[in-house]
Amino acid sequence: MDSVLVSACLRGVPCRYDARDKPSAALDARLAGRVVVPFCPERAGGLPTPRRPAELVGGDGHDVLDGTAKVVDDRGGDVTAEFLSGARLALALARETGCAEAVLMPRSPSCGRGRVYDGTFGGGLVPGDGVTAALLERHGITVTAAPGV
Ligand code: SF4
Repeated sequence: MDSVLVSACLRGVPCRYDARDKPSAALDARLAGRVVVPFCPERAGGLPTPRRPAELVGGDGHDVLDGTAKVVDDRGGDVTAEFLSGARLALALARETGCAEAVLMPRSPSCGRGRVYDGTFGGGLVPGDGVTAALLERHGITVTAAPGV
């Protein structure tokens, strides 16, 4: 049976910055019959829950991987190192568990795929990927944004 890496907050784990989860009935239906590997890169990277909200500044997750952008919280604290650590741990877990696919939380600076918050903390979106999504993609793992959230 194939395995799929999934953002833990989509599977009932209250690991978001506000210590809540974000369930999706549409996602649950899509994952029926598959082996789900839940993972939260921000917590794994060492950040607490709850925590300050963070956004990408100067580019998207690919730019963070290339060292030309960073991740900062809403007080200006630099959390780039934690985001990178969490992304690397997500990749390691995906490899260990044989996940060729990841279904992740939309818009997140870690998990977002295709669109992410724009770095102003105003709710705006820009094209791009989160740090974990970018790293997984670079290593051949197919990343899609979860439906229904
Ligand atoms: Fe954790 Fe990703 Fe959910 Fe954020 S979006 S809480 S990093 S699993």
